[in-house]
Amino acid sequence: MVARALERPRRLLMAALLLGVPVAAALAAGWASSHAQGELRDSARAQLALYNANLRAELERHAAVPLALAQDAEVRALLAHPSPAAMDRLNRKLEDIARALDALALYVMDARGTTVAASNWNDAASFVGENFSYRPYFRMAIDQGEGHHFARGTTSLVPGYYTANRVVAENRTVGAVVLKLGFDRLERAWAPGQEKLLVTDRDGVVFITNTPSWRYRALPRRLPISLPIVPQGTSEGLDVLPWIFGGASDRIALEEKGGLRHYLLSSVAMPGGDWTLHSLTSLDPVTARAWVAGLLAAAVVAMAALTAYAVALRRVALVERIALQEESRAELERRVAAATADLRAAENELTQAAKLAALGQMSAGIAHEINQPLAAMRSFADNAVVLLERGRMDAVRGNLAEIAELTDRMAAITRQLKGFARRASGTLGPVSVHAAVGQALALLESKLRREDITVEVDLPDRPVRVVGEDVRLQQVLVNLIGNAADAMRGCPVRRLRIGLVTAEGEALLSVADTGSGIAEADLPRLFVPFFTTKEAGEGLGLGLSISHGIVEDFGGSLTAANRNGKPGQGAVFTLRLKTTETPA
Ligand code: ADP
Repeated sequence: MVARALERPRRLLMAALLLGVPVAAALAAGWASSHAQGELRDSARAQLALYNANLRAELERHAAVPLALAQDAEVRALLAHPSPAAMDRLNRKLEDIARALDALALYVMDARGTTVAASNWNDAASFVGENFSYRPYFRMAIDQGEGHHFARGTTSLVPGYYTANRVVAENRTVGAVVLKLGFDRLERAWAPGQEKLLVTDRDGVVFITNTPSWRYRALPRRLPISLPIVPQGTSEGLDVLPWIFGGASDRIALEEKGGLRHYLLSSVAMPGGDWTLHSLTSLDPVTARAWVAGLLAAAVVAMAALTAYAVALRRVALVERIALQEESRAELERRVAAATADLRAAENELTQAAKLAALGQMSAGIAHEINQPLAAMRSFADNAVVLLERGRMDAVRGNLAEIAELTDRMAAITRQLKGFARRASGTLGPVSVHAAVGQALALLESKLRREDITVEVDLPDRPVRVVGEDVRLQQVLVNLIGNAADAMRGCPVRRLRIGLVTAEGEALLSVADTGSGIAEADLPRLFVPFFTTKEAGEGLGLGLSISHGIVEDFGGSLTAANRNGKPGQGAVFTLRLKTTETPA
């Protein structure tokens, strides 16, 4: 029963653990992940704006230098009227300025694009004498006064940012001053941290990055995201960035030492140029938050499921215990009922047996009572025959009178027997206490005489009637008087006293003796069936119990006590009976 009652909670627990826990974990992890990703995306965008500003500041750091040199009298003079001495002086001046600026190169070109003086005049790869007229920055400077361009140097192959300014002397364009800045400083400032940073050019080729192995690599051809500037596509022959895209999103995976690591890609176009700045922000914190949320949700659901299961267990156990208690109580009641029925049956049987025994005793008593007068009558009759033969008529008359008297006595005995023989009707009515006492004493007369017991009867003169039934009241009195006689056997004083008082609709009829009295311990069990202190065969221990039942049937009570309140001085039995209205 317990197993069946537990089946449902157990199944629910399994369902919660197998389904609820993973689902809750997945939902929580998903929610936490998307929430954290949103936050990360915002912060990456803000960060990217900072890097962008930083890059622009770096590029424009020395924009004023070529502009100032274009106005310089020495530069203008040299371009207008070149001379070896002036060139040499300018070379040294440019070298000093470039070193001070930490620039890759600073040089002056004439109107045809040939370099006339350069900061690297003393290097093997000196620009002096080289013609760079094809370079866009030069064209832009000559045409518009100022030119900017990012390119790799044709001789040095080092990438750099070129700023060029036109030099005007004597109302004509005489040349241009060019500053080439490198990105070492910037890359050093962008030392690899949480973010990977890169700048791609118009062709989608990386030229500034804090991940050196990515330099001069191209963006993948087909990106699942739209970039602010679509690469033009002259990056053939270059290695592609080792980016792994997971679906149509801005998430990128990179093969790293510890395995695949995930990043969020953000890109921004640099205003006024065709460069794009990208940042890759690690998604590790997002993953960690998703894990924590998932585990937390799993733990909460598991705990809730286990708690619910424990509660269910306790409830089932409680229900079970109540059912068991109920069952054992029902069983107990059944047993008590069965035992009571058995007892009642046994009691009925024994009552029958007791009645039979009483009948036997009574028969013996009656035989005894009748035999005596019969024997006497016989001898009176025999004597009368002899006296008649002798002619002694007076004596014969006397004998006959004796015989008549004896028959009277026998008639009296049989009259009482008739009274006993009258069946107990079961209906209650007024019974004369005087008559009941007289009949009981008459029935026991020979016994009382034999035992030499003095009988004192103290009844009121007026008749007292009580509610009851005469035969059964007699039976009670015979029993009480018989017990009293038994209790006084062998006592020096043997006096039986029967008293009656009436008050407030009640009659108290007492039977007192001067016998051995009742032991204190026996008082409470006197009326219990089969309680007896008499020898086996002498008493069944039913008399008082039957009497008690009879008196209760009458609506009265029967109580026992010791005379003078202590054992040894005799016993008093009191019958409390309801009186009926007596004629005044
Ligand atoms: P029984 O007389 O067969 O023993 P009873 O029910 O009439 O059965 O009496 C039970 C017991 O009560 C007696 O055995 C006796 O010990 C005690 N008893 C009854 N009447 C008296 C009495 N008058 N004095 C002392 N003891 C008594």
